[in-house]
Amino acid sequence: MSGAFMNTYHRLPVIFARGEGSWLFDINGKKYLDLGSGIAVNCLGHAYPPLVRAIAGQAEKYIHVGNYFHSDVTGAFAEKLVASCAGMRNVFLANSGAEANEGACKIARKYSLKKYGPGRHTIVTLRGSFHGRTITTLAATGQDKFHRDFGPFTEGFTYIPGGDVEALDRALDRKTVAGLLIEAVQGESGIIPQSAELIAAAARLCAERDILLMFDEIQCGLGRTGAFLAFEQYRDESGAPVKADVVTLAKGLAGGIPAGAVLAGEKAAGVFETGDHGSTFGGNAVAAAAGLVVLKTVTDPDFLAGIRRKGEMITGIINAWKHPAITETRGRGLMIGVDIDREAWPVLEEAVARADSAKGRCGLLMLSAGPRTLRLLPPYTISDGEIEQGMDILKELLDRQKKNHCGTNGS
Ligand SMILES: *Cc1c(COP(=O)(O)O)cnc(C)c1O
Repeated sequence: MSGAFMNTYHRLPVIFARGEGSWLFDINGKKYLDLGSGIAVNCLGHAYPPLVRAIAGQAEKYIHVGNYFHSDVTGAFAEKLVASCAGMRNVFLANSGAEANEGACKIARKYSLKKYGPGRHTIVTLRGSFHGRTITTLAATGQDKFHRDFGPFTEGFTYIPGGDVEALDRALDRKTVAGLLIEAVQGESGIIPQSAELIAAAARLCAERDILLMFDEIQCGLGRTGAFLAFEQYRDESGAPVKADVVTLAKGLAGGIPAGAVLAGEKAAGVFETGDHGSTFGGNAVAAAAGLVVLKTVTDPDFLAGIRRKGEMITGIINAWKHPAITETRGRGLMIGVDIDREAWPVLEEAVARADSAKGRCGLLMLSAGPRTLRLLPPYTISDGEIEQGMDILKELLDRQKKNHCGTNGS
């Protein structure tokens, strides 16, 4: 374990050397079933052959030409992305989620400035949201714990409680607000889907007041919830599909290669003009080649149906246990939050520590989302057998923890 890193992450004590499908192998050859996908990044699993071929094939041709020129593969990726996201007209390619959300905030501010003049620059976000780690996207993130130590933050962000339609109505002041940024299903704070009422009200209020409705689909998008984009599962007050003005993507977009994107619909598509925005690595050719494989896969309706079925399989298994350690399970496709009656971190540690080649036992890789929520974001390619195996281990861990718990409290 290297001491060369800055101390920014609480890492589990395992060093990985290789992956294949839903599995990772550590430097001692121990095996781990991956239900976290590197935080929704490896959406097609590890070493997925079509993805590996696309990446290697592109690297053999060229890796990067830069944004002063056109690239065949980056152009094809942009076309496919815009065609896949209903209602979107064009795209800016970035490298990460924070960068994509920065782009979205810039678009909202300039859209409003050009049309209404200065003073209408506020961006409203939700409590519990997570939008990134830059100074501006930290300001956009509606959680106080992220607003320490690094101020002053970018001005012009306000937060409303999730699910509070009246607060939304009050916050969306037509004189001061440029945009509303929402995760249809909040990831980092515990897999919290927004209510149908909130999204429908957001769609109406933003349209009435000419405020850009921006969906952060960085974690919940790209098939994760069983729809191509999570907000597509919501309806407006007339029952029609909700229309976004801006959509941001990253995490799984290139199956593990860094990539981010800001997409703009009708209203926002003309906002950025030459020189307004840029990114040296954005639209990198290897990322684009990988992204084409992801998009081809996750836009297939049968593949999306498979994600929904596997998600229901997982929540079905968990609910059938009626386990005393589980207080609530929330799932949308393969984005699942399991609230437990104890700290999540020790469960994650035990899940890794149980790996033992001699005893033929594998480890289990999960994530947390908040102190007492297990977050499951398995690769879309996980098999039914792997799901059953993973759920058996999860149950064993919760049983075991319960025993330890009882042990320390009494006998
Ligand atoms: C991860 C995440 C981000 C930030 O993405 P980075 O690539 O880490 O900058 C933003 N929004 C949401 C919803 C995320 O899950």
